[in-house]
Amino acid sequence: MSRPSFRPALLALCVATSTAGAQARPRPIAATPVPISAAEIDAHIRFLSSDLLEGRGPASRGGALTEQYLASQLRGYGVAPAHNGSYFQRVPIDLVALQESSLRASAQVRSNAPTPLRYPEDIVVWAGSSSDRSAAAAPVLFVGYGSTATEFRWDDFKDVDVRGRILLVLVNDPPAPADEPALFGGRAMTYYGRWTYKFEEAERRGAAGMLIIHNTERAGYGWPTVVGSWAKEQRMLPRDPKLPAPLGVRGWITEAAARTLLERAGHDLAALRRQAESRTFRPVETGITMDIAFANTVAHLESQNVVGLIEGSDPVAKREHLLLTAHWDHLGIGPAVNGDSIYNGAEDNASGTADLLAIARQLAQGVRPKRSVLVAFVTAEESGLLGSEFLARNPLVPTEQIVANLNVDGGNVLGETLDLTVLGETKSSLGPSLRRLLAPRRITLSPDATPERGYFYRSDHFSFAKVGVPSASIGAGDQFVGRPKEWGQMQAGEYIAKRYHQPGDEYVATWDLRGAVQLSNIVLDFARALANSRDWPTWNADAEFKRSTRTPTM
Ligand SMILES: [Zn+2]
Repeated sequence: MSRPSFRPALLALCVATSTAGAQARPRPIAATPVPISAAEIDAHIRFLSSDLLEGRGPASRGGALTEQYLASQLRGYGVAPAHNGSYFQRVPIDLVALQESSLRASAQVRSNAPTPLRYPEDIVVWAGSSSDRSAAAAPVLFVGYGSTATEFRWDDFKDVDVRGRILLVLVNDPPAPADEPALFGGRAMTYYGRWTYKFEEAERRGAAGMLIIHNTERAGYGWPTVVGSWAKEQRMLPRDPKLPAPLGVRGWITEAAARTLLERAGHDLAALRRQAESRTFRPVETGITMDIAFANTVAHLESQNVVGLIEGSDPVAKREHLLLTAHWDHLGIGPAVNGDSIYNGAEDNASGTADLLAIARQLAQGVRPKRSVLVAFVTAEESGLLGSEFLARNPLVPTEQIVANLNVDGGNVLGETLDLTVLGETKSSLGPSLRRLLAPRRITLSPDATPERGYFYRSDHFSFAKVGVPSASIGAGDQFVGRPKEWGQMQAGEYIAKRYHQPGDEYVATWDLRGAVQLSNIVLDFARALANSRDWPTWNADAEFKRSTRTPTM
């Protein structure tokens, strides 16, 4: 409460108010807020990543403390509550656990005897929605990559009705042929390559279930990762009644199991794969029938997005909103590593949360931009972007009034950089706009080093992209001032190997938070520029997301 780093800020606010009062000015001259400092960022990260908050799991005591801390800070800065007079937007989260003893799963080729599908050796399945029972029993249709992408003139489904069917689908995007290197983003993964898209498309088309055929090279990870991620309880939003009916069963099948089954039914997986790499592909009746059913235990949890509003200064433009986001949650308490079971998430994402707090303070206490700015600390990112997905579906203002979303997932704790990396740089006009803003400062944008991993689809800005809002995540690059380029890459590699999503992602007293100050100021300046402009950022022609063209689903 009395952290020294905040005293100057509060003093500045008091002085501004009392001066205005004494001289009876109709409008106080806006104070120049205390600049963002390393001490301010440090104070936030230190608290948010402390063991007291137990890894900030959603719907935990540490999570609730985090929510209160964030709301208190916003209140202190003079940021208004943004959800019906409250700083909190409740997010219902269902915890759905498959009861393995109840599972029965088999496949049958024509009238032959059914053979069991072993869990998790052959298949990993989970509920398509939070219900007590999940089932899909139907003929199996092979649908290639399962993509309908008008911008690439591609439609795997053609006119085939897949309602009530179980769909077998290939992982990732169709590979780009030599004569069309930009097809489905070339080396980069597009949304059509993500498993989330494939399930959503199957739901839009009324399928009963979908199994993705695993392939280590095309997925980028082995079967053990599939088992580790999916053969366990899943967190999901309660089904939104506005959405199409959920799939009964979602899941993966090993390549070996799929190949054997298809072979028995007279198909060659390699040949099917080749067919699927062409625009002329049509869904293939396999002659296989699957019967999968299981019971779930469902627990209803609740967490909160913490939301604030900095009202714009222009009476007309203030109806338009810029949305700034950072996820406050992390993994909570989990399996102990070296005796430590608290997943503190200091970098992921106490650091980004700290940056957004400092940015919100500046926006609230400085000269107000013309457009309004919404600040949202979203929950349950680590459970599958649930907090931001809920906010995108239940927006604080109509989606048509949100001009763009900037997200910070991972602040910079390693010192100032000469470059930034922007997820979404190549998708909308936000990339070029930021590049122009940074040019006079001699800061460049470095391309995403691993576009094939599809990171654009794996952080909160993506939830807003799905509903048509141009969005991007802004983070540090790897060219650190006074260090060789390899140093930054080495640090990133070490973080992924030793600390990412592990108890070792902890506060470090020797961090160089000048990088956090730099990153925060850049996001702040970019936010100000966007909020003072009358322009609307636009998607690039080949981006998957256009305004109001897509219904979000889970
Ligand atoms: Zn994160």
